[in-house]
Amino acid sequence: MSNEPNGAAKGRLLILDDDPSVGRTIALVAESIGFEVRALTCPEEFLDAVDHWLPTHIALDLVMPQMDGVEVMRLLAQRGCRAHVIISSGVGGRVLDSARRAAAAQGLHIVDVLAKPFSPAALKRLLSSRTGGAEDGSAGSETSDQEDFVFGERELRVALEREQFHLVYQPIIHCRTRRPAGFEALVRWHPAPGRIVTPDRFIPLAESANLIGSLTDQVIEQALRWFSGRQSEAPGALTLAINLSAKVLADAGLADRVAGQCAALGVEPGRIVFELTESSAMDDPVTSLALLTRLRMKGFQLSIDDFGTGFSSMVQLVRLPFSEMKVDRSFVSAVTTSAEARTVTKSIVDLGQSLGLRVVAEGVEDADTLDFISGVGCDFAQGYLISRPLNAEAAAAWLRRPVFAPAED
Ligand code: C2E
Ligand code: CA
Ligand code: CA
Repeated sequence: MSNEPNGAAKGRLLILDDDPSVGRTIALVAESIGFEVRALTCPEEFLDAVDHWLPTHIALDLVMPQMDGVEVMRLLAQRGCRAHVIISSGVGGRVLDSARRAAAAQGLHIVDVLAKPFSPAALKRLLSSRTGGAEDGSAGSETSDQEDFVFGERELRVALEREQFHLVYQPIIHCRTRRPAGFEALVRWHPAPGRIVTPDRFIPLAESANLIGSLTDQVIEQALRWFSGRQSEAPGALTLAINLSAKVLADAGLADRVAGQCAALGVEPGRIVFELTESSAMDDPVTSLALLTRLRMKGFQLSIDDFGTGFSSMVQLVRLPFSEMKVDRSFVSAVTTSAEARTVTKSIVDLGQSLGLRVVAEGVEDADTLDFISGVGCDFAQGYLISRPLNAEAAAAWLRRPVFAPAED
């Protein structure tokens, strides 16, 4: 099918849906935003295309007569498929969610689940959210994530030596006052001018190649330096969230090192929030408990990221010394469309509140969602409605605007 009229396609979308009319609809939407598309109805042909056409994105129907989508996902995982997968189906939200978790646990990159019937706008949003060029405040000067950029351990090592990693900062606001509360630092790799690679493509490799320690050091150094410059400009006390991979929890010296850097830069440790995903905190409970406790004792805050998606959220929550909870965006982004998501989100916020934690909702993409999470007592909000992640300069500029105002577009 067709390409973008001028310039390279945004990506290759492969669709598997037993209903050809659904496949055609998805194809039209994707083509309209510059994707190259193939829509198939047969699982065997689909898997063959996965191997030979190398799609960057996959749209997968969960319930089909010849083969079920869960089995297809297992086969995709077995092939080490790195495409962004969107799963869709007419089955209930809860079934979709468990399918999503099963796929993520097998290492597939699930962008989101789309309950049928879905609107073209919702699909467009999903496809654009990972490929859109508006991110990072680069005003269109940079292309988006380079899906076709192939790299290995050697390239990553060179990138670390050349310090090609830069941070973008996504604003977080207070739900009640809608004023700036802080930022989350998110890493980007710039392998060449104008090229950006997003973290979900290189963090797993950095972890398996034992490079995550050096990467984390560069991230922390850069983040603290940027943040130390912001404190005097801020209208109130701000926090800065930094993501930590499980692998660095074995590094016994980390807490002392970061505390030393904070002291040198005049950053109060209580303003720094280390975010850990549930699964990562679980890998080695004994070592991680020691490091996390040490970080807390130095005054740093600890956040349990993507809360609600793991298998043992509750166990983690009581066992490890968290001070903050981030409600996963799969719940938050569905509160306007799903009664189940509203119930789950409210229960998670209640749980966090009753444990005395700061509660942050991520993935807030519209005003109704912000109103809902504010109404159920969530403390902080983060998401595209408030702002996309911004480069260092743009994030500093965002802070100079005293009150959050929805983007005018
Ligand atoms: P995360 O910690 O859950 O980060 C939030 C991700 O959601 C970011 O993707 C962000 O751009 C995206 N996002 C923010 N608001 C919205 C929204 O309203 N809607 C949607 N659909 N998405 C939103 P990003 O930057 O690609 O990061 C992906 C993951 O990579 C992060 O997930 C985090 O787990 C990991 N990561 C990022 N930076 C670092 C880092 O410095 N170190 C480590 N170890 N991991 C990192
Ligand atoms: Ca995070
Ligand atoms: Ca998260």
